[in-house]
Order: sequence, then C-alpha cells, then structure tokens
Amino acid sequence: MNKINKNILKNTTVLYVDDEKEIRDKIEYFLAEYLEELYVASNAKEAIKLFKEKRPDIIITDIQMPGMNGIEMLKQMDIKNQIPVVITTAHSDADYFIEAIELKVDKFVMKPIDLVELVETIQTLIEGSKLKQRLIENNKLLEIIDENVLMSITDEEGVIVDVSSAFCQFVGYSKDELIGHTHRILKDEKNEKSFYENMWKVIKEGKVFKSELKNRKKSDEICWVNLTISPLFHNNKIENFIAIRQDITNRKELEKLAIHDPMTGLYNRRFLNEVVEKEIRRIKREGSVLSLVTMDVDYFKRYNDKYGHPAGDKVLIEIAKVLKKHAQRATDYCFRMGGEEFGIIFSNLKKEDSLIFVQEMIKAVENLKIIHENSACSKYVTISAGLIVESSKHLDSFKKLYKYSDEALYKAKKNGKNQVVLSENSL
Ligand code: GH3
Ligand code: MG
Ligand code: MG
Repeated sequence: MNKINKNILKNTTVLYVDDEKEIRDKIEYFLAEYLEELYVASNAKEAIKLFKEKRPDIIITDIQMPGMNGIEMLKQMDIKNQIPVVITTAHSDADYFIEAIELKVDKFVMKPIDLVELVETIQTLIEGSKLKQRLIENNKLLEIIDENVLMSITDEEGVIVDVSSAFCQFVGYSKDELIGHTHRILKDEKNEKSFYENMWKVIKEGKVFKSELKNRKKSDEICWVNLTISPLFHNNKIENFIAIRQDITNRKELEKLAIHDPMTGLYNRRFLNEVVEKEIRRIKREGSVLSLVTMDVDYFKRYNDKYGHPAGDKVLIEIAKVLKKHAQRATDYCFRMGGEEFGIIFSNLKKEDSLIFVQEMIKAVENLKIIHENSACSKYVTISAGLIVESSKHLDSFKKLYKYSDEALYKAKKNGKNQVVLSENSL
C-alpha cells in the first residue's frame, strides 16, 4: 500500500463531480483536509464551468448523472489526456466502460468508494503526471544542451558514444564521424603525451579533470577549449565520461598576440618578465641551472643601409626561425627583446653544453648564407651572443642575469663578433 504523501496532496487541486449528495458530502469531508483545494459539482454543467474557471490538477467524476453523463462531460471538457481523470463507477455502469477507456480515463474506482483507496489513487496519478511534466521539462533541457553545449560522452575506454549537435557544429564533424571514435580525431599533434596520461589518471580515479586544451577541427583549423571531464558512475563503477567545453579560441588568440612579437612570432619582451620569474622559481625548486643568452645581429645598421629596411626585416625573421628551430624543448623560450636583439632562456644544460648549444645557433645563422657585403666579420649575416649559466643557489633576479649576459655580449662584439662569450659570473 502506498503511503499517503501529504506534501503532494497539499499542492493538488481536485474537481469532484457526483449527483448524489450523500456521497459528495462524505468525499468532501474526507478529501478537503488533504488537498490544496477541492471543487465540488453536483452535475456536468456545473462541473464544466468549474473546470474552465479553476483548471484543477485532476478530475474525479461519477458516470451516471441526470442530464449529461460523465463521459459526455469529459468529451466537452476536451481534456485529451492533459490531466488525470478518475471515474467512480458502479457495476451497473459497465456499458460506459469502453467509451471511458477510449477517452483514456486513467483509473476506475468502484462504488462504494473506499476513501483511502481514492486518496492513494489521486496521489499516484498526480505523481505520474508531475513526473510526466518533469520529463517534458528534462526533454526541453536536453534540447537546449544539445543545441548550445559542446558536449561529448564516451565509454570508459574513451570511445565516443554520444555528442551534442553544438559540438558537431563546432568541430565540423558529423555525429557519425565522431561516434565510435576517440577524441584523438581532434588531437593537435603538438600536445604533450604527458597531458593525456595525466588526464586519464585523474578521471580513472573518478575525479573531475579541468584544463585548457588545443584541438584541431575537421578543417584543420586550430581551436582552444576549456575542457571539463567528469566520470559518470553506475553501481559505483565508472561507466562513462562526459566532457563539456567552452570555446576559448578568441581569448587564446588575444593572449597570443599579447605575448608574441608579430614580426618574428617569437615571444615579446613583456612575456619575458613573466616567464623568467616563473622559471627562476622552478629552477630553485628543482635545484638545477638556468641559462640566458642574449644575441645581437652584427653590423646590422650597415645591412639596412645597403639592402634596405624591408630586407633587414626579412633577415630578422630568418634568424628567428633558426633560433626557434634550435630551442625546441618545452622549457626553451625564444624572445625578441627589441630591435635586432634576441634572447633565449633555457634550463638544465651545464656550462659546456650551454656554450655548445649557443655556438650551434651562431653557426646556423651564418649558414643561412645571407650575403652581407659590408660586414667586417663574415661574407654573411652573423650574430654575436652573451651567455650566463646560473645555478639555482645564485639565481635571484632577471635583472642581474640580463646584466651578466649583456656584458658578455659586449665582449663578444669587442672580440670581433660572430661568436659567443660566456659570462665569468657563470657557475
Ligand atoms: P653591432 O654589430 O655592433 O651590433 O652593430 P649594429 O649596426 O648591428 O648595431 P647598431 O645598434 O648600430 O644598429 C642596430 C640597427 O638595427 C639599427 C636599426 O635600424 C636596426 N634595426 C632595429 N630594429 C630593426 C627592425 O625591426 N628592422 C630592421 N630592418 N632593422 C632594425
Ligand atoms: Mg536538436
Ligand atoms: Mg647589432
């Protein structure tokens, strides 16, 4: 037996129709205390009027009534399954049954009415219809999610089992192209393996993983998302993962502009300060070494004078490419410090190796074989460099590092250019 849930009934309004006064009074007396409101009618006409005015949550009606019977009344109300209907009936009403069923009447209660049964019936029907309402609302919600949220659901192995339309539109793949595949289809080749390893570790432990991530659309276009992956459990076991993303491509592009030198694509001076502070903290934590090399193009004024400023720009772009190509580890940072001056921050290379690393770059620039007739140190465009390699113990500020590398650079120029000088302040 269902327990009477007074909370549900308290929010329920009922229209009750019966032509027999004695039953009406009994029902009214019993039901009124449970319900928010009970509207009572003694005939169909009165009931139709009340129905239109009050819009009750549920109708309970007798069938046999003088004038219009209950079935006819329900037809006129044009309820169409929108609210639950209970018919109270005697065995002699059997003829009306079929019609009542066709009207999709939810429940028949036999007369004489068992009042507790009636209350339970109301409760069950209301719960059912509220549930229906909730389901409709959930469906609406799902539709909104589908159209607006960049969502994908995978099984526990990462194979996509469902995706939202919004996500498909965003990445340019159809549902069919995504379902049955993993997210690898969107992977940007440059993303670190360790990123994915860590992600899997977190979500397999049942935790939520959040991160910014670079992806590639079907068009090969790069996009950035703010990713949240949550495990979905079933019987305490992870069954699925749900990934929700926000498109942060625009923000990332703005950030990129703010930290990059537009001409060479290297990091700019502004970003240098940020990176150096971070790197100094890291090196101190790890107890390793940090190197800073500053570089300057030799006889660059003469180059501009002879070949023109635009040709000079091209030289800077070519040199930047060489530096970028050599400084490729995740903790290498190449900067255009301004004008014709470059800088690289790198770590975990001892003095000798740091020196070799820089010498290779100097060689590689000369090997570009960009003719520079007015250079006094080579046939080609060259650079000079000043290097400081500092251990975590002596590291304090960027200012000091920069001063040492700049002094070394000055010496390299004085020594005849196209070379690197290691600061004597190095470890
Ligand atoms: P040194 O070998 O001692 O470094 O001599 P230098 O001529 O290279 O040095 P100087 O400081 O006398 O001249 C630097 C030149 O670099 C002057 C400036 O016009 C040029 N320069 C700075 N920034 C740019 C740039 O963005 N594009 C071009 N084309 N030239 C630049
Ligand atoms: Mg849709
Ligand atoms: Mg110069």
